[in-house]
Amino acid sequence: MSALVVSLHDVSPRTRPECETILAALARLGIGSCSLLVIPNHHHRGHFLQDPDFCQWLRGLSQEGHEIVIHGYYHQRPRRKAESMTAQLTTRLYTADEGEFYDLEEEPARERVAQAREEFRSAGLDPVGFIAPAWLLSGAAQRALRALGVSYTTRLGSVVDLQNPRTFASQSLVWSVRSAWRRATSLAWNACLARVLTRRPLLRISIHPVDWSHAAVKRQILDLATKTIARREALTYQNWIARQRAAAF
Ligand SMILES: [Zn+2]
Repeated sequence: MSALVVSLHDVSPRTRPECETILAALARLGIGSCSLLVIPNHHHRGHFLQDPDFCQWLRGLSQEGHEIVIHGYYHQRPRRKAESMTAQLTTRLYTADEGEFYDLEEEPARERVAQAREEFRSAGLDPVGFIAPAWLLSGAAQRALRALGVSYTTRLGSVVDLQNPRTFASQSLVWSVRSAWRRATSLAWNACLARVLTRRPLLRISIHPVDWSHAAVKRQILDLATKTIARREALTYQNWIARQRAAAF
């Protein structure tokens, strides 16, 4: 059976209420295994370890079959003084300064991910994957992930097994909701992309908490999820990668 991976991005104590609403809606559709991308210290506004109730909530979700994934550290990239036009366009227009790992060197990337992993472990969680904010991951940071033994990462257009090096092409559905024109474009693009991807073995739906503030976006996500789950099995990225490895031997 082909697979569906639903990922919920930007999970943190700040977004928990929206995340709970989204997960409840997905559970009602029969989607009980999602990859939850958790930000350790969202925009420097409070580390998740300082919220024991949040940690307890994550442990419960993990026991229910969801996967905890490390999603950056601060989810914020400080602007540099002299930046190329490409860097400016990528980090400001595309992501609103969220590209924390966009051009991070190997050592700082290694330090941040190792620290995050230790912190999750201290809370009784054991994430094996890392996904960069806005999927912007420098080559140096990807090398750091591999050296740290991180199992996999994903990009907008692929899922990458880091330990048995292999890249699986798979474009994720994702919505950009920062302005009316972005929302209109997203709705049209995702309707089209979902049709194109119908026969692919893996379909990825990436949801952000802010998507739920826009009725048309929320409706399209739930419609697509409903249609998709009828024909596909909901897996986490961790489980999906495990299946690809098993199939390769
Ligand atoms: Zn994010």
